[in-house]
Amino acid sequence: MRALCWNGVNDLRVETVPDPGIVNPHDVILRVTSSTTCGSDLHFIDGYIPTMRAGDVIGHEFMGEVVETGPEVRNIKKGDRVVVPSFICCGQCWFCQHDLWSLCDNTNPNAELQEPLLGGTTAGIYGYTHAFGGYAGAHAQYVRVPYGDIDCFKVPDGLRDEQVLFLSDAAPTGYMGADFCVTPGATVAVWGCGGVGLMAQRSAYLLGAERVIAIDRFPERLAAAREHCGSETIDYSSVDSVLDTLKEMTGGRGPDACIDAVGMEAHGTSLMAKYDVVKQALRLQTDRGEALREAIMAIRKGGTLSILGVYGVMDKFPIGVIMNKGLTVKTAQQHGQKYMSRLLDHARKGELDASFLATHTFSLEDAPRGYDMFKNKQDGILRAVFRPN
Ligand SMILES: [Zn+2]
Ligand SMILES: [Zn+2]
Repeated sequence: MRALCWNGVNDLRVETVPDPGIVNPHDVILRVTSSTTCGSDLHFIDGYIPTMRAGDVIGHEFMGEVVETGPEVRNIKKGDRVVVPSFICCGQCWFCQHDLWSLCDNTNPNAELQEPLLGGTTAGIYGYTHAFGGYAGAHAQYVRVPYGDIDCFKVPDGLRDEQVLFLSDAAPTGYMGADFCVTPGATVAVWGCGGVGLMAQRSAYLLGAERVIAIDRFPERLAAAREHCGSETIDYSSVDSVLDTLKEMTGGRGPDACIDAVGMEAHGTSLMAKYDVVKQALRLQTDRGEALREAIMAIRKGGTLSILGVYGVMDKFPIGVIMNKGLTVKTAQQHGQKYMSRLLDHARKGELDASFLATHTFSLEDAPRGYDMFKNKQDGILRAVFRPN
């Protein structure tokens, strides 16, 4: 089959690789109908997350049609159209049973690569480094889903691929971030208007927020936040101080809840941001945390901070501010399996339509160009969607 492979820092190529087959009795093989880029892919494409190997097939957000099932698969059958969360989950371990899906204990065979850094391990992810399991990704004609009954969710009739594809990751990540911090009537500020940030904004309203304020610098992303999510917006490159602007907009108190949907490659204009760029370039720390620090400063006393951006290691993390302001911090990689049926229901009723994220579509052969446009945020791109078949 054809697949998009990582061959080195900023070197993606479409190559012919072996077709996946049934390895274990709970496996399902999908013919991928749509897959999409994710901002977190850029971290290993840029070389900030290690443990990639030349030839690895990438891509962790996808949907498709079932073409083969292992002998123990019960609920999913050949011909089903399904969407799959990006974390691979067994459904049986203590963490899966407690709805902490991205922390599944049984799906990362390379636990020894994470344990020293984290003191524990995450679940495996499709196409996302060997530290996250070394599974083949989904920017390919076919992909193996190891726990078909647990991780394949049937798509209701009448929904197009673009309406469902983002339920693989961007929508549940954003929804979870809002679920962590939104109380009815709250004012919520969201840093970042990429796919996850936009889904967090829409979800905040679904969960009862009264006002959502979005922060970014790209005009087309800020426009998407206003038009598709109903958010008020701040262009951080055109104001003197995001903190002062937020204070003004909230009667001097600050937002009740803040969501960081930016992560480790944050851009910023302050002196601290420039310090971060230098340290990251020197590999002294892996993360630039401008958005996160700003959120911690902006949030009202006693508020809740929800962290969705992907981080590795960061210094200068202001734990003293968190403690003295009495903040609650909640964070996780997405627990997609917990939210999927709720999100499919919202999609079916037209309450959550993520299809506006699909601004650009490419054939699989053209995927490197898609990533290039996505990385450089060209032509108003929100997400590049690939059609592998
Ligand atoms: Zn993703
Ligand atoms: Zn599990």
